[in-house]
Amino acid sequence: IVSRSVEGPIHRYTLAESRLRTHRLAHALGKLGVELGDRVGTIAWNTHRHVELYFAVSGMGAVCHTMNPRLHPTQLAYIVDHAQDKVIFVDLTFVPLVEAVWDALKNVETVVVMTDREHMPSTRLPVLCYEELLDAESEEFAWPTFDENTASSLCYTSGTTGNPKGVLYSHRSTVLHTFAMALPTVLSANERETILPVVPMFHVNAWGIPYVTAMTGMKLVMPGPGLDGTSLTELMNAETVTIAAGVPTIWLGLLDHWREHKISVPSMHTVVIGGSAPNRSMIDAFQSDFGIEVLHAWGMTEMSPIGTACRLKPSMLDASENERHTFQLKQGRAVFGVEMKIVDEDGSELPHDGKAFGELKVRGPWVCSSYFNVEKSDAHDADGWFATGDVVTIDPDGYVNITDRSKDVIKSGGECPDIAQAAVIGVPDEKWTERPLLIVVPKKDCQIKSEQVLEFFDGKVAKWWVPDNVIVVDTLPLGATGKVQKIKLREQYATK
Ligand code: AMP
Repeated sequence: IVSRSVEGPIHRYTLAESRLRTHRLAHALGKLGVELGDRVGTIAWNTHRHVELYFAVSGMGAVCHTMNPRLHPTQLAYIVDHAQDKVIFVDLTFVPLVEAVWDALKNVETVVVMTDREHMPSTRLPVLCYEELLDAESEEFAWPTFDENTASSLCYTSGTTGNPKGVLYSHRSTVLHTFAMALPTVLSANERETILPVVPMFHVNAWGIPYVTAMTGMKLVMPGPGLDGTSLTELMNAETVTIAAGVPTIWLGLLDHWREHKISVPSMHTVVIGGSAPNRSMIDAFQSDFGIEVLHAWGMTEMSPIGTACRLKPSMLDASENERHTFQLKQGRAVFGVEMKIVDEDGSELPHDGKAFGELKVRGPWVCSSYFNVEKSDAHDADGWFATGDVVTIDPDGYVNITDRSKDVIKSGGECPDIAQAAVIGVPDEKWTERPLLIVVPKKDCQIKSEQVLEFFDGKVAKWWVPDNVIVVDTLPLGATGKVQKIKLREQYATK
């Protein structure tokens, strides 16, 4: 496990060494009063210490509650309170964040800063030092035995459609999900690979990657707080990373960096893209310009997260490059263990013909059956199906294609060469109740005007599909997990 530490230097150790520190940490947690089922919060980057917390907290029977530091402080306070975290482990970077919400936190007894004595901050919080806690403990620890359905970790949804909701994972669901992630149809994990999860450990357990590396012996490279192009590329090349996983916005920045500095990462053969849909030019760039295969995957917090992965069937390998890249825009086929169906507004099942679209429902051993401490969930039904809110088609080969979230049905396809990112929102309209408004971010060094973008639609789609207006902006508001915050766009532009 190699990590860029928050303090700066690269930290490197073996799984065996990690295990011994995990034992020390489990002892320390016991001394802090953590018991079976207690929630232990983390607000931290991807580093070796966060990995130790994953295994020590869950292994001793408590619940590792990872929190997203990019959430609004009031949402963060809501989550800590709702989860009733007893202890919070926090990276140096996020001490000010905890200070800002401290007065609203009622249940937290202890804050542990994930650093050594030398780097401890001065703060009004009642803090302990992570390394000191570990130093005081023994390397021998006998893991307790408990039911496989015991909760192991907790993650709150991004809250794009309301207050964040907690999803509780069990030891059973996590182990089964880890097997699924390791499959040849997904990560094809084995000890000859080196993986760099850019996807954060604070959101859906970094897609389960820290568990996969522990299960398979695959080398794990952790970026810490260094998510910029220079830091990521440096780490990828120094550690000969073969697989990297993250959301499209991260890859957009990295590809720009590679092009600008005329650099590449020769060791890398696969980039896993999920969390939101990559566009065609991203797939082209990775595969045609840099020789890195794109593995497009789809999932949700409620699904631990894996649902589908888009590996091409052998019969598709002979297709033209153009056809293959277009196909990879699909989210892929259900990973073994996940059942899927599409339903219309009345709940009737729709055919898997690649044309009929409706809401995707899923069921499986790592799909949550309810939300944490929420009495009623409209998304869950009595037969175990979970309504994803994603609107999709499924083709006869089983490949899922997302058209949008159920509230925003939008036709997609086609790309304007001068546009890097785009979002469409519905804005109130007297005649039609709602009409689409397009908001675009131009590509680097491209100047575009609204009229040009509108002309781009000419002859491509029906007139009434064309947005009424186009707004050109420098950036789109991104939420804590890299998704475009349509709520913010609606607030800002709903009257225009
Ligand atoms: P979260 O629970 O925050 O991980 O968000 C899950 C949602 O992100 C899904 O329901 C989708 O709407 C969206 N999403 C995840 N992966 C993809 C993907 N590959 N393509 C399009 N949307 C995605």
